[in-house]
Amino acid sequence: MANIHLYRPDLVIVISGPSGSGKSTVIDALCKSDETLRLSVSATTRKPRPREVDGVDYHFLSKSEFETHIQQDDFLEWAEYGDNCYGTLKSEIATAGEVKKDTILEIEVKGALQIRAQDLSPTRSVLIFIIPPSFAILEKRLRCRKTESEMELKKRLAIAKSEVLEIEHYDYWVSNPQNAIQDAVQQIQAIIAAERSRIDSKLIETINPLLGVDKVN
Ligand code: 5GP
Repeated sequence: MANIHLYRPDLVIVISGPSGSGKSTVIDALCKSDETLRLSVSATTRKPRPREVDGVDYHFLSKSEFETHIQQDDFLEWAEYGDNCYGTLKSEIATAGEVKKDTILEIEVKGALQIRAQDLSPTRSVLIFIIPPSFAILEKRLRCRKTESEMELKKRLAIAKSEVLEIEHYDYWVSNPQNAIQDAVQQIQAIIAAERSRIDSKLIETINPLLGVDKVN
C-alpha cells in the first residue's frame, strides 16, 4: 500500500496554567521542536516588560485600541486579567491556516473557556492545563523573575488559585516539575500526536478515497 499522509493542520492548542507555571518556557521549547506548530501572538494592554518586542511577544495596544478591536468583533476571545486585557485576534487563526500550521494559544482560563464554547470549524480545539509543582514554588518563581510589583504579584497568586479550580474544563493536564521542562514538553508532544491521530468524520472523508474504498451499506 502506498504511504498515506493524513496530517492536516487543524488544531487550536490552548495551553493555560497559572502565571509562573512555566508555560512560556515549555511552549518555546515545543515550537522549536516542531516546525508545524505556531504560537499565536496575543494582543494586550499590559506594558511591555524589558526585552519584550511588539508584534513578537504581544501586540501591545492602548486601552482604546483594544476596545476598538472588541467593538469590531476582531477577537476570537478576550479577557481581563489583573488590571489588563488580553485577547486573541481572529486573524491569528487565519494566518496559521495560510501557513499550514497548528496554532498554540497561550491564554488564561476565561479565554480558554470562550474557545471551548465555540465551533471553530474547520479547526478544532484541544485544551491543556499546565500544573506547577506547588504554590510555594509558583510564588518563588514569580518573585525571582521580578517583573511584577508586590501588589501585582499577590493578584497573580490569587488568580492562580482560582484558575486551578477550572481544570475540569480542560482535556488534558501536564505537570511541570522543577528542573524538568523537557518532561512537560514531551507530555504535550504526546498529546498533540494523539490528537493528530484522532479519527473523526473529516478523517474518514479523506481516508476512504485515498484507500480506494467506499462506505459499505
Ligand atoms: P502575562 O502578563 O504574564 O504575559 O500574561 C498574563 C496572563 O494572560 C497569562 O495567564 C497568559 O497566558 C494570559 N494571556 C496571554 N495572552 C492571552 C490572550 O490572548 N487571551 C487571554 N484570555 N489570555 C491571555
